[in-house]
Amino acid sequence: MFPLKAVNLLETPAKTASALRVLADPFDRHVSYLRLSLTDRCNFRCTYCFTDTAFRFRPRAEILTFEEIERIVQTFCDMGVVRLRFTGGEPTLRRDLHRLIERLAKMPTLEEGKSLKVVMTTNAFLLADMAADVAAAGVGEVNSSLDTLQEDRFQALTKSGKLSQVIAGIDAAIAAGLKVKLNTVALKGVNDDEFASLALFAWDRKLNLRFIEHMPMSGGEYYKDQQRVSAAEIRQQITAYFGLPLVPRDSKAAHGPARYWSQEGKSHRQIGIISPISENFCDTCNRVRISATGDLHPCLGYDQATSLRDLMRGGASNETLRRAISTTLAGKKARHDFQVNGQGGPRKSMISMGG
Ligand code: SAM
Ligand code: SF4
Repeated sequence: MFPLKAVNLLETPAKTASALRVLADPFDRHVSYLRLSLTDRCNFRCTYCFTDTAFRFRPRAEILTFEEIERIVQTFCDMGVVRLRFTGGEPTLRRDLHRLIERLAKMPTLEEGKSLKVVMTTNAFLLADMAADVAAAGVGEVNSSLDTLQEDRFQALTKSGKLSQVIAGIDAAIAAGLKVKLNTVALKGVNDDEFASLALFAWDRKLNLRFIEHMPMSGGEYYKDQQRVSAAEIRQQITAYFGLPLVPRDSKAAHGPARYWSQEGKSHRQIGIISPISENFCDTCNRVRISATGDLHPCLGYDQATSLRDLMRGGASNETLRRAISTTLAGKKARHDFQVNGQGGPRKSMISMGG
C-alpha cells in the first residue's frame, strides 16, 4: 500500500500528475530536493567530519554506478524532485563527473518545461581545473567548504588540504559563471576568531557565506558539545566585530535550512546560519539523502535507510522502486534527535552521507 501522501504515478493521470508535488512525508513536508553522495572517498580528512577512525571506504563494487544513479534520479524526478545536489565524500573525485552531470541536467521534472537543477557541494581542492567543465556540463551552483583563511590552520583541520589551491578553486568557479556559496562549520577554539574575516572574504567576492552548527555524527563519540557555536553566538560575534546590528532577511526565498541575516542598512553584507540544534528547522525539511552505496536516508539524524541499490540489483521494477521510496518516506520522523557525548545519535558518519 502507498502510505499517506505518496501517489502512484502509474495510476495518476498525466494531466494531474504534473500539477502534483507527489512526494510528501506524514508531516505534509514535500520532498523536492535530493542529495546524492557520489563517493565515500575524500582527499581531505577534516577533523570534524572524518571522525570515525574505524570508518572504512566501501569496496568499489558497492558504490552506485552511473546507470544506477541515473535510474534513481529519474525515479525521484518522476515523483516530484526538482533539485539534485552531488556531495560525498568529495564528489570531484568521481571519474567522468561531467558525463554524469550532462546526463542528469537534461532530465525532465514535474515542473512544466523545467529540467532538473543540478548543484554540488565540494571542498574545491580540485575545482580550479574542473570548474569550467562542470559548468559547461550543466551544474549551476557549487557550495564550497571554507572553514579558515589561515594556511597552517587549514592544514591542521583538513590534514591534507592546501588553502591557496582551494581559494583558486573557488575563484575558478566564479570565473566559470557558477553561483558559489561558502560553507563554514563553526567550531569553538578552532575558527571562532575568524568569522568576521570569513564574512569579509565572501563579501569581497559577492558570495553568500553560511555558518553551519557542528552536528554529532558517528554516534557522537568524538563530538564535544562545548565546541559547538550556537546560531546566537555566531550573530553576536559578527555584530560585535562590525559594530552593526544584524537584521533577519526573508529566508523562505532561499529554499533551504539556512536563515539569513544582513547588517542593518547594508543588505549586500549578508550571512546565513544553518543551525540544526540551537534553532531547529526540521519543520521545513524538503529533502532526502542517498549514500554512495545507494541507501535512501529520510533523515540525516537517524540510521534508518533502505537500500535502493540492492533492490535494483535484485531486478526490481520501477513500480517497486517507487513503492520503496514512498514507504521509506512514510517513516520519516518529525525532527532529528541528535544526541551528544557518546549517548547515541546516528552511527553513520558525515563522510559517508555528504551532510
Ligand atoms: N567534501 C565536500 C565538502 O567538504 O564540502 C562535500 C561533503 S561534506 C561531508 C558536506 C558538508 O558537510 C561540508 O560543508 C562539511 O563542512 C559539512 N560537515 C561535515 N561534517 C560535519 C559535522 N559533523 N557537522 C556539521 N557539518 C559537517
Ligand atoms: Fe572530506 Fe568534505 Fe568531510 Fe572534509 S568535510 S573530510 S572535505 S567529505
